[in-house]
Amino acid sequence: MTVKRVLVINSGSSSVKYALLAGEDRLASGIVERIGEPGSPVADHGAALDIVADELAGQGLGIDSPELTAIGHRVVHGGTDFTEPTLITDEVTAMIEELVPLAPLHNPGNLAGIEVTRRLRPDLPQVAVFDTAFHSTISPAAATYAIDREVAERLRIRRYGFHGTSHAYVSREAAAEAGRPDGNVIVLHLGNGASASAVSGGRCLETSMGMTPLEGLVMGTRSGDLDPGVLTYLARTGGMSFEEIDTMLNRGGGMRGLCGDNDMRAVQERLAAGDPDAELAFSVYCHRLRKYVGAYYAVLGTVDVIAFTGGVGENSPLVRQTALDGLEALGIAVDPGRNERGERVISPDGTAVRVVVIPTNEELEIARQTLAVLPRTKHP
Ligand code: ADP
Repeated sequence: MTVKRVLVINSGSSSVKYALLAGEDRLASGIVERIGEPGSPVADHGAALDIVADELAGQGLGIDSPELTAIGHRVVHGGTDFTEPTLITDEVTAMIEELVPLAPLHNPGNLAGIEVTRRLRPDLPQVAVFDTAFHSTISPAAATYAIDREVAERLRIRRYGFHGTSHAYVSREAAAEAGRPDGNVIVLHLGNGASASAVSGGRCLETSMGMTPLEGLVMGTRSGDLDPGVLTYLARTGGMSFEEIDTMLNRGGGMRGLCGDNDMRAVQERLAAGDPDAELAFSVYCHRLRKYVGAYYAVLGTVDVIAFTGGVGENSPLVRQTALDGLEALGIAVDPGRNERGERVISPDGTAVRVVVIPTNEELEIARQTLAVLPRTKHP
């Protein structure tokens, strides 16, 4: 039997990322950027997908190939409607459209990608894999904000969580690595965006992003947790408009707001040179992480594995060491040598909690989830 090929499309607001997978193998991947920007040769998502199709064809892997089994699409917001990967129909795209107010920066780009590939290959099954879906199992206690319930329900205000494909993939790999497939895992996904999750027996119990991807950890350019009173204060006393506040928290917050650099590599170089702004930014980042580890330990009761992933989690021994420093009483420790060498298991032998570094693979997870929902007739 030949290995099934899946084209994974991550169509964002201004870029399209793609990967063509055959089983675990990545046959091709790439990115088309600056869609719709002034002076950009890529006018819209249709033009971007044309470039993707050309790049694939150039490698003899055309989108029209009969060997392609399905197309999997990353969709950021599934609201409460979508808790699983879903075969795309007209009804499904209409429902994703209805969720645009919850993710105005993301869902329109996702939809544009879906429309184009459905036109290119109307014969192929296409599947939407939602960033929010893995977190749909968090309890009402974890999902509900303590605000007026009528307002919250009318405007669909609750905690949804994001980065779900990564948390699903990494929590499963980490539990397997520890030999505890049904165990309790804390995942720390630290990229430009960052989020934590508490997973038990493969079910997500808590996650740090909320109604939007702004809540929780300190990120490259996003503030993470903040006293909501700061918002009204900025508007009332600071004289800022909602647009300005939104920009400050989403683009000018996090590490960039604290020290001017959003890239952790640059922050660490300045830290090594004794720069006090970088020192403060780094300590705020790691303090927040440690606080979430403690909180999720309490949510889970016992912890088998802590997994680091994402660009920072996979590549920064200093963040891993600092965030987990001083937690020996909880059975959490990091072996300096293993950590520096970037080994898969970085905790010392014999500690209660295994600490691991797991490179995330969202494309593979989307491909797997896509194949899992194909109509049964397609599986001989
Ligand atoms: P995205 O969230 O966009 O997918 P990534 O998961 O690739 O991003 O993470 C990007 C971040 O990873 C960069 O902003 C950078 O700060 C960080 N990073 C990459 N390599 C290193 C490194 N060697 N040391 C520290 N941080 C790193």
